[in-house]
Amino acid sequence: MPELALLEQVMDTVRPLLGQGKIADYIPALANVNANKLGIAVTSIDGTTIGAGDYLEPFSIQSISKVFSLTMALCHYTEDEIWSRVGKEPSGQSFNSLVQVELERGLPRNPFINAGALVIADLLQSRLGAPKHRMLEVVRSLCDNTSIRYDNKVAASEYQNSARNAAIAYLMKSFGNFNNDVDTVLQSYFHYCSLRMSCADLSRAMLYLANGGKSFTGEQLVTRVQTRQLNALLATSGLYDGAGEFAYRVGMPGKSGVGGGIIAVIPGDLSVCVWSPELDKNGNSLAGTAALEALSQALGRSIF
Ligand code: GLN
Repeated sequence: MPELALLEQVMDTVRPLLGQGKIADYIPALANVNANKLGIAVTSIDGTTIGAGDYLEPFSIQSISKVFSLTMALCHYTEDEIWSRVGKEPSGQSFNSLVQVELERGLPRNPFINAGALVIADLLQSRLGAPKHRMLEVVRSLCDNTSIRYDNKVAASEYQNSARNAAIAYLMKSFGNFNNDVDTVLQSYFHYCSLRMSCADLSRAMLYLANGGKSFTGEQLVTRVQTRQLNALLATSGLYDGAGEFAYRVGMPGKSGVGGGIIAVIPGDLSVCVWSPELDKNGNSLAGTAALEALSQALGRSIF
């Protein structure tokens, strides 16, 4: 477990990078976030959380929610049912690319690009009675915080700007790889993306990835093997077209969101979440990546 002073030092090291990235501006609700926010929280497998900067302030988790959806799918479907509908290969294109859908069977390359996450949301829609409600319950229990909410303004604004995601979903539907009503699934998907959580919440919620599938509150959410598989997918696809760069610099399985959050884990040790809204060219938090790089160097840890 790092000392609090180390986290503060990491924040000081990366603060000069603020101003060098670009806030996601495809919807006003995200464009209006204060660009100077910067936070980090670490939760160790003994359950202790420490944080620095704006680590208690909730932000829009966006694509970090794709980890929760895939985890829920693993709890309700067999491996074959999932992997016959979505691949496990890294991307090499932007997160919202249509090119990531293989044009023979309509299979998205992996579950963390939008196409793949939409298929996972479609799966959840088919088997869970009220998937939005269930997602909220799962996330609240994972971080032991009943005040976690959807940001309905963000979800509504995403829905008003949903042409690209709708196109991806309809493309997959045309191949028979999408079973439910597109609008219904888009609504669920945008709600998952609109979850508001702090770095402290997220570092706790992701602890199962560092702890062989056992959550912050002690529940065995997924098996040890499934946890390893999730971490492998995070390491290869969690940062879209920046996954290689992230592996090189940070050396931890991770997942980013366009709200500027990134979660990462050192299996057997800790989970960490950073937040800084300005993004690099791949849509990953610029100062957040630098903070994780500084942390892994200071701890002398990498999974490689
Ligand atoms: N809501 C965003 C979208 O679907 C999420 C993208 C992201 O965080 N990378 O486009």
